[in-house]
Amino acid sequence: MPTVLITGASRGLGLEFVRQYRADGWDVIATCRDPAKAPELTATGAEVHALDVTDDAAVKALGRTLAGRTLDVLINNAGVYPLKGPQGSFGDIPVKPWMEALRTNVIAPWKVAETFVANLEQAERPVLATISSKMGSIGDAASPGSVVYRSSKAGVNMVVKGLSIELGPRGIICLAFHPGWVKTDMGGPNALITPEQSITGLRRLIAAATPADNGRFLAYDGQEVPW
Ligand code: NDP
Repeated sequence: MPTVLITGASRGLGLEFVRQYRADGWDVIATCRDPAKAPELTATGAEVHALDVTDDAAVKALGRTLAGRTLDVLINNAGVYPLKGPQGSFGDIPVKPWMEALRTNVIAPWKVAETFVANLEQAERPVLATISSKMGSIGDAASPGSVVYRSSKAGVNMVVKGLSIELGPRGIICLAFHPGWVKTDMGGPNALITPEQSITGLRRLIAAATPADNGRFLAYDGQEVPW
């Protein structure tokens, strides 16, 4: 059975990835900050490892733990959306949460990719999927606000593009995804789709990905998203 590694799997979209891949019989390596506080994740029966993606030493340590294991799919899912609402509007945006967003949403996906590239290279058609957001699309931006989150997702889009240039020649298909506006803690109750719908769509795209897709930015329904 193929193997997938998912970051930020304690809840939301990460947890739904775990559930759906488990239901299909995949070997699932799920990581989250604190497994003791993630009973829904441990209940899936996935192999769970503690990992704060911003802790570079911990990322490297997990790399050593998983050395030699083939990864068919790696999903950079962990993300934060600090300063929703007025606090994140033009005026006096605090720097610390902005730095946290950049650390988590931009830098960590690159460091995770560096750490597990050898595991991916062992697979036949490896896919490195990074959950970005349409809110990071510069071409799509029109309204004010949310610059902290938006700039972090614009940043991770360049990370994915850079990874596609680095790793495409090594056979790894690198994709940026917009999961839709999804009912999770982050998306809130007014979101338009369920985690089931979003992850069903994203898994379909991952399963169908070919080297020709390397470096694309796609929504969960397969539509191209402008960078
Ligand atoms: P949630 O807020 O529901 O879940 C976020 C997950 O990321 C949690 O598991 C959280 O873990 C984890 N996480 C945050 N920081 C870290 C860290 N430093 N190390 C490890 N794990 C961490 O968000 P969603 O499930 O909705 O979002 C998942 C991804 O999808 C994110 O990248 C988000 O930006 C993106 N996205 C979501 C959209 C939506 O509408 N929901 C829309 C567009 C993009 P913990 O439980 O420990 O806090």
